[in-house]
Amino acid sequence: MADAVDVVIAGGGPAGATLAILLGRAGLRVDVFEARRFPREKPCGEGIMPAGVAVLERLGLRDAVGGRALAAVRYHGFGLTAESPFSPDGRAQALGQRRLRLDDTLLHTARTTPGVRVFEEAPVEGAAIANGRAVGLRVGGELRRGALVVGADGLDSPVRRSLGLDGRARGPARVGVRMHFRLATGRTIGRGDRLEIFIGRGYELYAAPLPDGELLLAALGDHGALAGGARAALDRWIAAEPVLREALDGAMPLTAPAGRAPVTRRARAGFAPGAVLLGDAASATDPLTAGGIAHALVTAEHLAAAVPGYLTGGDARLAQFDRARRRLLRAHERLTRALVFVVRHPTLAHATLLGMRAAPFVMRRLVAIAAGVAIQPPAIVASSSAPALAISSATDQNATLSRRAGSP
Ligand SMILES: Cc1cc2nc3c(=O)[nH]c(=O)nc-3n(C[C@H](O)[C@H](O)[C@H](O)COP(=O)(O)OP(=O)(O)OC[C@H]3O[C@@H](n4cnc5c(N)ncnc54)[C@H](O)[C@@H]3O)c2cc1C
Repeated sequence: MADAVDVVIAGGGPAGATLAILLGRAGLRVDVFEARRFPREKPCGEGIMPAGVAVLERLGLRDAVGGRALAAVRYHGFGLTAESPFSPDGRAQALGQRRLRLDDTLLHTARTTPGVRVFEEAPVEGAAIANGRAVGLRVGGELRRGALVVGADGLDSPVRRSLGLDGRARGPARVGVRMHFRLATGRTIGRGDRLEIFIGRGYELYAAPLPDGELLLAALGDHGALAGGARAALDRWIAAEPVLREALDGAMPLTAPAGRAPVTRRARAGFAPGAVLLGDAASATDPLTAGGIAHALVTAEHLAAAVPGYLTGGDARLAQFDRARRRLLRAHERLTRALVFVVRHPTLAHATLLGMRAAPFVMRRLVAIAAGVAIQPPAIVASSSAPALAISSATDQNATLSRRAGSP
């Protein structure tokens, strides 16, 4: 059996890697087990909302991640367009960046953070449970002990399942698919600094400008929307959208369509004795509002701030974190559910676009919720000028760990 560490994390995506970086910088010992070898692709719309960009800045990784700065979102549908900046003052910026790059930058940073060990090609089978309490992860038939077990293993989370926390998603089962293109020389979509969203009958298309003349195109639709093949569906929908058709004229496909169904999932609860879920493993909302990456980053910050309290005070701190997380994401989730309803009813979608044009201040408010501009970092991060979390020392933490986990 391997030595116990403070925190064992299943999954090295944005949620798991960010948490590992923050905990390692705070002096804790962290093991991350990731099923894949990085860099790896992850089907996604690749728009990082401003709340997520703010976390990258606080981590000191904004430049390393790179990406294309996006200042606004523009909706197209039924012959209408409506546009809004991400924040009413126009200062908030989103980013368009390949997951290949974002996720690799985060996991690489975790790997090089003292105290953090990253094991790739190490699929986790589930949480190990003793006397009703998670005591570690099961990896390749071995028990990897940690005083806290974190399931950041994505939408299908084996950790969530092993903890008996699988729940049902709210709303319709939808499918999502994405593809990358290199635009022909001199072409952009619109001004090249907006997320462009096209609402059609039975689909939505998301075009995110990326660095180096690349474009990410993602599509969402109801179950069955991709029947007949993802590429054929994308071609049909592109052909129906003149602005997109023009931007993609002469473009070279860079990746094959990749996607997933369903795109939503929700845990019954976000924690269990000795364990907590993070990112999509806890709650994957419909990607329509492009919040998943930002929420993974923001909630990783909040969990990192809660871990010292957990190590000294126990599960009550996890319950508190879970409640705070729900409050933090509530407005966004409600907005997303409402918009999923709207886009599935063309008459309503048309009326909504008309309304947004007539009342731009309402649209600005809704876009600001989607962008998460009001989301605050945990107090401990907000009050620290250093990039690292100012939480208690490694010596204190390790002493606590030895008491709690009975490490050999
Ligand atoms: C079609 C689509 C479009 C989207 N568009 C956007 C968008 O534009 N903007 C946005 O913010 N969000 C978008 N999202 C959502 C976003 O992709 C997720 O919310 C985000 O990836 C969540 O991060 P995570 O770290 O929780 O999970 P993931 O990114 O899924 O990372 C989980 C990691 O766990 C690993 N893993 C899985 N199983 C195991 C195991 N058994 N053992 C060890 N490791 C394991 C995986 O390999 C992966 O690296 C979209 C999603 C879809 C499906």
